[in-house]
Amino acid sequence: MIRKGKTPRRPPPKKPSNNQKDPVGVYCRVRPLGAEDGECCVEVISSTTIQLHAPDGLKANRNGEFKETQYSFKKVFGIKTTQCELFEDVAKPLADDLIHGKNGLLFTYGVTGSGKTYTMTGSPGQGGLLPRSLDMIFNSIGPFQAKRFVFKPDDKNGMEVQNQVDALLERQKRESQQSVPKTPSSRQRVDPEFADMINPDEACKADDVDEDSSYSVFVSYIEIYNNYIYDLLEEAPMDLIKPKWNGAGTPLRHNTEFIPPQSKILREDQNHNMYVAGCTEVEVKSTEEAFEVFWRGQKKRRIANTQLNRESSRSHSVFIIKLAQAPLDADGDNVLQDKNQVNVSQLCLVDLAGSERTSRTRAEGSRLREAGNINQSLMTLRTCIEVLRENQMCGTNKMVPYRDSKVTHLFKNYFDGEGKVRMVVCVNPKTDDYEETMLVMRFAEMTQEVEVARPVDRPICGFAAGRRQRNQAFKEELSRRLEERGGPVDGEPPAALNQLLQSFPPLPASELSDPNDDHTIPRLIEALEKRHRIRQMVTEDYNKAANMLKSMLQDLDGNLMSKENFIQDQRGRLGEKDKMIQNQKNEIDRLEKKSKMLEYKIDILQKTTNIYEEDKRALQHELESRDHRLQREVSEKKRMEVRMHGLVTDEKLRWQKECERRVNAKELEMQNKLWVKDEKLKQLKAIVTESKTDSRPDQPQRPSREKDRVPAKRSASPSPVPKSFTCQAPVWPLPQALRPAPLSLSTSSMSVASCISEWEQRVPQTDRQGSPSPPHGRSRAQGPPSSLSRRRGRCWARDCEVPVQPADVGLEEVGYRTGPPVRPMHRRSHSAGAERWVDHKPSTNVELDTVMQPSVANAIKVSAPSEKALAKCDKYMLTHQEMASDGEIQTKLIKGEVFKTRGGGQSVQFTDIETLKQENPLGPSRKRTSSETGPNQEECKDGSWTDVETRCAVAVEMRAGSNLGPGYQNHGYSKRRKP
Ligand code: ADP
Ligand code: MG
Repeated sequence: MIRKGKTPRRPPPKKPSNNQKDPVGVYCRVRPLGAEDGECCVEVISSTTIQLHAPDGLKANRNGEFKETQYSFKKVFGIKTTQCELFEDVAKPLADDLIHGKNGLLFTYGVTGSGKTYTMTGSPGQGGLLPRSLDMIFNSIGPFQAKRFVFKPDDKNGMEVQNQVDALLERQKRESQQSVPKTPSSRQRVDPEFADMINPDEACKADDVDEDSSYSVFVSYIEIYNNYIYDLLEEAPMDLIKPKWNGAGTPLRHNTEFIPPQSKILREDQNHNMYVAGCTEVEVKSTEEAFEVFWRGQKKRRIANTQLNRESSRSHSVFIIKLAQAPLDADGDNVLQDKNQVNVSQLCLVDLAGSERTSRTRAEGSRLREAGNINQSLMTLRTCIEVLRENQMCGTNKMVPYRDSKVTHLFKNYFDGEGKVRMVVCVNPKTDDYEETMLVMRFAEMTQEVEVARPVDRPICGFAAGRRQRNQAFKEELSRRLEERGGPVDGEPPAALNQLLQSFPPLPASELSDPNDDHTIPRLIEALEKRHRIRQMVTEDYNKAANMLKSMLQDLDGNLMSKENFIQDQRGRLGEKDKMIQNQKNEIDRLEKKSKMLEYKIDILQKTTNIYEEDKRALQHELESRDHRLQREVSEKKRMEVRMHGLVTDEKLRWQKECERRVNAKELEMQNKLWVKDEKLKQLKAIVTESKTDSRPDQPQRPSREKDRVPAKRSASPSPVPKSFTCQAPVWPLPQALRPAPLSLSTSSMSVASCISEWEQRVPQTDRQGSPSPPHGRSRAQGPPSSLSRRRGRCWARDCEVPVQPADVGLEEVGYRTGPPVRPMHRRSHSAGAERWVDHKPSTNVELDTVMQPSVANAIKVSAPSEKALAKCDKYMLTHQEMASDGEIQTKLIKGEVFKTRGGGQSVQFTDIETLKQENPLGPSRKRTSSETGPNQEECKDGSWTDVETRCAVAVEMRAGSNLGPGYQNHGYSKRRKP
């Protein structure tokens, strides 16, 4: 009778009953450098971190990455790590899980030559994870294995349980066929090629193996090449090539034609688990047997690769260890014939294809960088891991493309939460592999972020624990007793039975000698009844005791169960805590990495800041020094200015004095000369007169000097008009140096204004003839002539004297101009307020409508100058109109005093000019509408001329050797000076 047991992976893959999750455990193993590998680019910097150094050629990093990149893993194994150490950390827990009914998946991942196969399979004397796992499994379950064919795989990934008889029959059948590999009785019989793979000294064993279960191990070995699955343990095709083994264990190729293996397909069982349909599952009973099967597959793989010219590095090999276990029945004697109690766990050991671009092995030198050239199934694996990670981290629900490749499709259940997943990343530290290794590291690091649901614990069957032991103990006890007794003797009851029988009352003699004996039979009946009662009592007692024992046992069982549950619970919690610790460790690692990076950045920024600050300080220093220099220069300049100013003033004064001194000296000299000449002339005259007195006594006498001087005077006059009169400046009672230059003009019919204009025009001329270096205030003297004239007029007015201005008075030149200027005592005396005025208004004047009209009381009004009027008056006023620069009519009242000349004529000395101006307020604004002394606009605009002090200073300067004053003085003054 066959009972079918399905794998108890009940929960559908999408919702594992356990919501505890573990990250994919990623371990890194660095192999030693090969003899010709040259430089090393990998450094193990801690038990969890490795660092990759970019080789020199790659120093200029394209992605701006650091030259050194660090990767952290659950654990890093350096070059000295032994296979045993690696197994302890990586595969042992998986084998342990397998024994406890949980699934596991272990990958080796890395570039070709990085040690994947070495890690997984190992080499003689240094068995890898696979033989070690097998050894541990058999060491653990060895005594509890079921007989062959008790567990029988169905074709749908399930496990059937056969009863002892069926199993025995099948065994016998197979043995007769001789197809079942016999368990090698000793390690000596093992193929020498892998004889040393398993070292009995390093044997290890799982703890807490459930002894009340029966186990069976089945192995499968498949290869996935080019996305096709091949069964490496399939018998049929191999029959055709049937390699024979020579002494050295190398296959002798058969001459028969090689029939390529048929590829297998993937199917999903009723629990949604993927399996390779029709894949051979070989039941193995020992490590050696299992490894022999593996080796057979390995050889077949090699042959196929050679025959088909395939690259083994491009295929994935998957070795599946399936462990079926079912509880023993209540007797602890046989496997429980209940399919629901069969648990199948499997451990997949996957040696992945080399994770490099295929071109690397194909066309050397021309490494193609296209992603398409990377082994497609590895690409899919990466994609699946990425999507899983994204789904888990971002809470998205993207479809994981497991189906895109056979490898991922086959293991999809693991990632969906059907067992522990671990990966060993193998690294060859040679620089040639740097780029590939970096990609491998990135993928591996990312893989760690994927979490897989923790497999749930196997449900405990309802039987009391220790069945196997009890059963064994019972059997042992039985056989011992049998041995003690030398085995049961026929017809004789065993000793225990004897004892029991002795406790019964003895039977009375039952011999019947008399047919009428009425006593024997009733006595026998009575004794037998008694015995029956005793037996009933004993039975009752026994039943009672049995029941009591049973209930006691049940109590104990309950207790044990609750304890077990409690322990399980505690284990779960411990696991949770472990996971938390692990997570925190990972987080710490991550943060440490981050902080390292930040520190590096801060360092750079600090350096930059320092440089900038240094720059700033230098610039500030320079600025300060320049400031200082500037200040020094400015103060130096000021000091110089003051000094120069002082120097100039000193020099000016010195020169003034010098000039005065020279002029005086010259004057004196000239006077002396003149007097000498005069004297000579007088003497000459006297001589001549004496000699002529007699001849011309009526000739009028004239001072010789006056006669001489006439032509000189005339030549000095600017316009030698025949009928002219001279306006002579008076002799001022002022120091010579301060006297303004008198102006002498000889004109008869010239207007006063034109005389003024002419005089004004002379100023710049004289100015030009003077010193060519006008000092600051003096440059203004080169402005419009009018302004200058006024200034001069004003200045002189301040000195209470006014230069003589000719008027267009048609006065006869009565006084000869040879005489010295009229002395003040010649002025007509007049009492104050009783002056008489000649109010001369030329008829050409326009009548103005101004409110303020000049009116002079006690005046003789004339429209043309008349000597008669002048003779009567002592003041003269000419009202002169002219066009001002702004187009307005400007009225000037030119005032003067009338003097009598020595010759009896009249002379007018102008003392004052009053300017009246009418202004249109709508026109351009003016500061003043009228001014007494008539400083004109330009003068007003010039602030420096408006204050009295400045004006005085200029007035003084003009006579103190300025280019204007002295030049002018010299021109018309010295000549007229009377010695
Ligand atoms: P892969 O399977 O990744 O292509 P292999 O496992 O075939 O690489 O390793 C290539 C070579 O390197 C083998 O000769 C192997 O013995 C050696 N090797 C790999 N890893 C180690 C190691 N950790 N210690 C010593 N030798 C190693
Ligand atoms: Mg390999």
